[in-house]
Amino acid sequence: MVARADSMIINSLVRQALTSAQEVMGDNGLNTVLRTCGLERFIDSFPPNDLQPSIQASQYAKFNEAIEAFYGRGGKGILRRIGKASFQYGVREQAALLGIAGVALKLLPEKQRIKFILNGLADALKKSNPAVQAWLDETGDRLAYIESTCAICHSRESDKPICHLYVGSVSEAVQWATGREFEVTETHCLAKGDEYCRFEIGEARA
Ligand SMILES: [Zn+2]
Repeated sequence: MVARADSMIINSLVRQALTSAQEVMGDNGLNTVLRTCGLERFIDSFPPNDLQPSIQASQYAKFNEAIEAFYGRGGKGILRRIGKASFQYGVREQAALLGIAGVALKLLPEKQRIKFILNGLADALKKSNPAVQAWLDETGDRLAYIESTCAICHSRESDKPICHLYVGSVSEAVQWATGREFEVTETHCLAKGDEYCRFEIGEARA
């Protein structure tokens, strides 16, 4: 694997991740996981909602890995739920950053709505960290969201895609924009040696 820059994640994003994890896992689950991945300083002490650097991407990846390890086979589902909660936190707390404040999507076709929210997600990440490279891929039959600087899998190796939290956030974003639930699949992952993590928007569930 090519060595990747280990960029810093800002306080507000770490706060978002911890709040979402707490919602899904409860205090005991979260505190146990924080102890196992060397982030015990955040127990009962979330970072403030500001733009100061907080933790490195590789530490955020370890947090994700620790959640998966703690829940075993249920870990993937838990991470997806945390990703969904994280997007909902964004809607509540960062509507302006996501570009959704006062926006009415109802008149747009469904595909345009999906593109709108996924572009909003990419732009919000880029605003929080200029090193982020994220974009929409419209070259295939299906729309996909790509990030080549994904922090979730930083410094990790796997034969399968592992960015389950990201899958949850993308699927919740699409559901927010369309009112329908879509299948979202991680087709490529940096942890597998791919050039980027790629999340493909599949069929709507009935
Ligand atoms: Zn990834």
